Amino acid sequence: MNNDVDAIRILVVDDERDIREGSERILKRIGFIVHIADRGDVALKVVKEVHPAIVLLDLKMPGMDGMEVLEHIRQMDEGILVIVITGYATVETAIMAMKQGAYDFIPKPFEPDQLRIVVNRAAEKIRLTRDARKLEEEKTRTLSDLDTEKSRIRTIIESLPDGVLVTNASGKVVLINPSCKQLLNLDPDMGPGRQIEDYVPDETLSKLVMEISKGKHVDYGDIPDHEFNLATDTYLRARAQPVLGERKECLGAVLNFVDISTMKVLDRLKSEFVAKVSHELRSPLSTIHEQLAMVIGDLVNSAPQQDHHILTRAKEKTQGMISLIGDLLDLSRIEEGIICHEPKSIRLDDLLTNIVDFLSSRAAASSQSLALNLPPQPLPEITADPLALESIFGNLITNAINYTQEGGRIRVDVDMAGINIRVKVVDNGFGMAEKHLDKIFDRFYRVKDDRTRYITGTGLGLPIVKGLVDSLGGIIEVESTPGEGSTFTVLLPAQNA
Ligand code: ADP
Repeated sequence: MNNDVDAIRILVVDDERDIREGSERILKRIGFIVHIADRGDVALKVVKEVHPAIVLLDLKMPGMDGMEVLEHIRQMDEGILVIVITGYATVETAIMAMKQGAYDFIPKPFEPDQLRIVVNRAAEKIRLTRDARKLEEEKTRTLSDLDTEKSRIRTIIESLPDGVLVTNASGKVVLINPSCKQLLNLDPDMGPGRQIEDYVPDETLSKLVMEISKGKHVDYGDIPDHEFNLATDTYLRARAQPVLGERKECLGAVLNFVDISTMKVLDRLKSEFVAKVSHELRSPLSTIHEQLAMVIGDLVNSAPQQDHHILTRAKEKTQGMISLIGDLLDLSRIEEGIICHEPKSIRLDDLLTNIVDFLSSRAAASSQSLALNLPPQPLPEITADPLALESIFGNLITNAINYTQEGGRIRVDVDMAGINIRVKVVDNGFGMAEKHLDKIFDRFYRVKDDRTRYITGTGLGLPIVKGLVDSLGGIIEVESTPGEGSTFTVLLPAQNA
């Protein structure tokens, strides 16, 4: 059990050879490393060399006597436990030695068992002391590890190119890195310590951070990214998340800022380019389309069937391109924020009734049922551009018709959800796999499978819908199961201005 590190060294000092060697044998057998000395001066030399933990010391020796050796040992190292061997077994000598700092005593002559008991007691004390020291050392090491870890994390945060800002539960900033100060145009010497609004110039974001800090958004998925621009034409995207403790309690918020100005410029250039090209293409295409229609009308009886078919296909294709261009132009307008031409007070029940009436013939053509379920109470009015609302629900209901089999069922359910008007467009059509759901709002994304491959479309309908819903301060969500159908839910704030 004893290895070199843990083994305890004992020095036996006695001028009587039998005692010296007898003790050495007994102690070695129970695992101690034993050194011996027959005189006081030799003993002190050994102590210096091997630093024993325990010294078994005969008090009565020729030359330097035990008491003197004890005194020297105490001066050299107070941690050494000295057990004195008292020849006369008098209590006084023992007490005197103990007063001088001896740890214990053993009367001479002694039995092996007596020796073992006394030495083991001392050894136990040594072990306990060693354990305590080890624990202390470990504690110090852990603390210093923690310190290093902390400073390492701090250095990483300090040198991150993204802005990082952390608040506590009352919205006070407790950490801000240099990139953050630079992105927000703050004085580089400005430290943490003030309220969030002193750092973030955007009121909506400050409000959101306050709410997060106070624990109002504990669900990470809930919090949308927030984009804002500074007076200097810099666009920033902020992602704010709560910092949760071990018991899921909110300790504050952490914000990550990224400069998206270049992305914004590129996006704008792309939109401008698309808008320009679309615009340029729209008139000639419309002319071709009209002329094709005229030619088809003129040739209705005279041209061969084949020519008639080709021209009709060409007319359909131009119609497709005209809708694509229309969608692209709509998207550019939405992206530029020019969507609300004529905001009006609108009763969504009337608007939806009209759209459903208008599209019911299309549904009927595929033997589908299309029902509108309005709540018993009249809906509150909302202020919005009617064209935007028509586009949102027209697109969703048209999609439901297009992506549902013949004879399918489509429902538009309307009710109130708090301050929001909730419109659900439900179909029992083809549905979509989970992996498509967050992509269908991307431009040109279309689900291509055996059932949808031949359905014509641009992949721009849902991005337009999403852009419009966003601009109205609403939310759109989709749930879908392949083979069972889809539900698109739109929430629009009723008091929306
Ligand atoms: P488009 O209909 O022109 O293809 P959208 O942006 O309106 O473009 O829709 C994108 C894709 O989402 C569609 O191609 C279709 O695959 C899928 N989709 C949209 N609505 C539904 C729906 N109600 N049921 C099943 N799939 C749908």
